[in-house]
Amino acid sequence: MNIYEELGVPVIINAKGPATRLSGALMVPEVVQAMAEAAEHCVDIAGLQAAAGRRIAGATGAEAGYVTSGAAAGLLLATAACVARLDPARMARLPHTSGMAREVVMVRSQRNFYDHAVRTAGIRLVEAGLPDRYAGAGVRDVQVWELEEAISTKTAAVFYVADRFAQPPLSDVVRVAHAAGVPVIVDAAAQLPPASNLKRFITQGADLVAFSGGKAIGGPQATGILAGRRDLIMSAACQHLDFDILEEQWQPPEDLIDRSRLKGVPRSGIGRPCKVGREDIAGLMKALELFLAESDEARHARWLEAVRAIATDLEGLNGVSARISGAEDVSAVPTVELKISPSASLGALELAIRLQNADPSVHVDPTCSDRGSLHINPMCLTADQAPQVAAAVRSALQ
Ligand SMILES: *Cc1c(COP(=O)(O)O)cnc(C)c1O
Repeated sequence: MNIYEELGVPVIINAKGPATRLSGALMVPEVVQAMAEAAEHCVDIAGLQAAAGRRIAGATGAEAGYVTSGAAAGLLLATAACVARLDPARMARLPHTSGMAREVVMVRSQRNFYDHAVRTAGIRLVEAGLPDRYAGAGVRDVQVWELEEAISTKTAAVFYVADRFAQPPLSDVVRVAHAAGVPVIVDAAAQLPPASNLKRFITQGADLVAFSGGKAIGGPQATGILAGRRDLIMSAACQHLDFDILEEQWQPPEDLIDRSRLKGVPRSGIGRPCKVGREDIAGLMKALELFLAESDEARHARWLEAVRAIATDLEGLNGVSARISGAEDVSAVPTVELKISPSASLGALELAIRLQNADPSVHVDPTCSDRGSLHINPMCLTADQAPQVAAAVRSALQ
């Protein structure tokens, strides 16, 4: 009996990709092994974070790095770092921010439910600009001058959500923020692949960047990476680590925390509830190593093989056509696009729900269901599950 059988929880077929509600990415045996080894010994957790931070710095080109309990936790820590900086008294006061520069500016069209993590630090979110292209009433997104106008002496940070089509471009946002002496935090949670994006946002001038560890990197579900400026990573660590320690005993790793820059030993801070275990750090480091060792081309070819097999299995269905999207672009995740014709006996969303209620339950990506399409994402499918997806689609259509 496996642990899920023991717990009485059915295993699903995840053709949606590494979504948190569907338990994130699959971990390869090497990652599981690293976690199991980590569980068998105790270490100083700050020392382990410092070692991981050096690897993250190497992978991202940033000055420093840190392991968080997810990209969203990284956003909370990043915001707390930009507000409290290196002052333990301010750290201890969060989420109360009166008397501090406490506004975080963000492009209005980038608002999304993950910005709750930013707001959790106690800041006031300031939405900038008028994205009229989304209403269909106009053609423009937020303009750089609108963002510039929203930045003031009260601004602690500018928050930017990275995406292929994000506007204005990050480099323009960095330019106006840095001109005002304000750091830029980037949510790049799902911006991998391509692997080059690990470095891209730092190269474009971001001060802190958050990635998910449990998506394309293939690490433990509850992990993330925060990379960026050394002083800000130090502040994040000071607001995340456990500080149940006597001052005389405190010997933090110097490259993570420079004690001479602090007026005292911090108290456990606002990030302490988002704790990260040694197994998580070890698993993420192994996953990151493997992610970097595999080229985008090899990863893409592996996924393409799976989606081709599924698309072939789905040929000749009535009312549904299967086509591969993202086959040419190695920086994209190839998927099978199931296009349901208007004359079919059921709609796209109806098909998705029927698949979800099948046994075993199959979850596909319904993002484009309002346009009559479903996507089958290969990232979280095991080799034996790929044929089961096609079989489930066939039987759902009957
Ligand atoms: C997934 C995601 C997050 C949250 O990442 P976790 O690692 O699950 O905390 C935040 N922002 C965006 C844009 C995401 O896609």
